[in-house]
Amino acid sequence: TLTDRLSRLVKTMRGQARITESNVQDMLREVRMALLEADVALPVVRDFIQRVKDKALGQEVAGSLNPGQALVGIVHKELAATMGAGVADLDLATQPPAVILMAGLQGAGKTTTTAKLAKLLIEKRKKKVLTVSADVYRPAAIQQLKTVTGQAGAEWFASTPEQQPQDIARAALDHARRHHFDVLLVDTAGRLAIDEALMAEIRALHAAVHPVETLLVVDAMQGQDAVNTAKAFKEALPLTGIVLTKLDGDARGGAALSVRQVTGAPIKFAGVSEKIDGLEVFDAERHAGRVLGMGDIVALVEEVQKGVDLASAQRLADKVKSGGFDLNDFRDQISQMKKMGGLSGLLDKLPNQIAQRAQGADMDRAERDVRRMEGIICAMTPLERRKPELIKASRKRRIAAGAGVQVQEVNRLLNQFEQMQGMMKKMKGGGLMKMMKRMGG
Ligand code: GDP
Ligand code: MG
Repeated sequence: TLTDRLSRLVKTMRGQARITESNVQDMLREVRMALLEADVALPVVRDFIQRVKDKALGQEVAGSLNPGQALVGIVHKELAATMGAGVADLDLATQPPAVILMAGLQGAGKTTTTAKLAKLLIEKRKKKVLTVSADVYRPAAIQQLKTVTGQAGAEWFASTPEQQPQDIARAALDHARRHHFDVLLVDTAGRLAIDEALMAEIRALHAAVHPVETLLVVDAMQGQDAVNTAKAFKEALPLTGIVLTKLDGDARGGAALSVRQVTGAPIKFAGVSEKIDGLEVFDAERHAGRVLGMGDIVALVEEVQKGVDLASAQRLADKVKSGGFDLNDFRDQISQMKKMGGLSGLLDKLPNQIAQRAQGADMDRAERDVRRMEGIICAMTPLERRKPELIKASRKRRIAAGAGVQVQEVNRLLNQFEQMQGMMKKMKGGGLMKMMKRMGG
């Protein structure tokens, strides 16, 4: 994965203080590969890499981050900013009925999304919504819209394959006006590929109803072709937004970047299931992580930087190796974990495969235990913390009383400490810190 490959490269950059042409070249090549693998179109990738390079070069690297980690941060931020620019909400600020025109290729998800939007507008914005199908090529398409509109609890305006698309749309608009609908959603025909007749038809539809929103519906699985689709529709129509569908599939969703770049229109919604409620406001941050194939690793890098002094982590690793890991270090490590938002907060940020390894652990309980353990260690003298082997029965009783716990709990802590010591030795030092460092780069 990209994370693995970047991690390896990042390691080679330790000790360098700045992002330079030479130290980022290999990393940018990896980022470029990752974007191409996510099906971002080549010209879009080139542009993007250039922008990242301009932003990154010569930048001082903050705190304990190395240039590689800093670059990953810049890439992620730029990707999220590019995909997230613009207003993600629907603009309905017009004399009602506000018309929303749905455009896109056949199978992109226009009809499904029309119904999802109807439901969202009814439930979240208390609108009175009418839908109509101008897809006169497939009688089944009109029935499909009728069915899903019913599921959404919206009203449907009847049309027939014998009518002209513009006439259908005009009649629906007229009906919407007379019956005081707030919103009219116009579903349209798509083709399997771009053709001039389709473009002329949707242009005519646009001219007939003056939509306040013209949404391009794009299948996230479409990959490289998304660029051509987006270009053709942008030339035909003044697009106001994009809906990216089928993000519940395994596509990395690079189409988002391509389509956003080609059309300049904001990505407003993401389709995340076939079901009527499977529509979400597009989350650019999250999607950037998906395109890069690296979970929320950037947030983790930032938090590691905030909460942990990597140099002290290194000292700790060395101590473990030399057998000098004592209860003071144990306590430091516990408080470091707390600084980073606790165990569960940390787990949220790890990429899936790592978080899964920790699955099944009862996080709330673990955090409670951590707090108690800290209390017990605090009740020890500095000497006892350095030499836990001194802690025999009478000292245990004193410590237990001081921490307000039972003697058994002191025993348990000492056992856990021993176990952890053993485990960390096996991991060849560093324990959690070492793992964090690997995550960060
Ligand atoms: P249209 O030709 O553009 O109107 O596309 P449809 O709305 O008929 O959708 C085509 C297929 O894609 C249907 O089987 C839908 O159920 C499916 N679909 C649409 N949106 C989504 C989505 O967000 N996720 C999934 N999994 N399927 C979707
Ligand atoms: Mg359809």
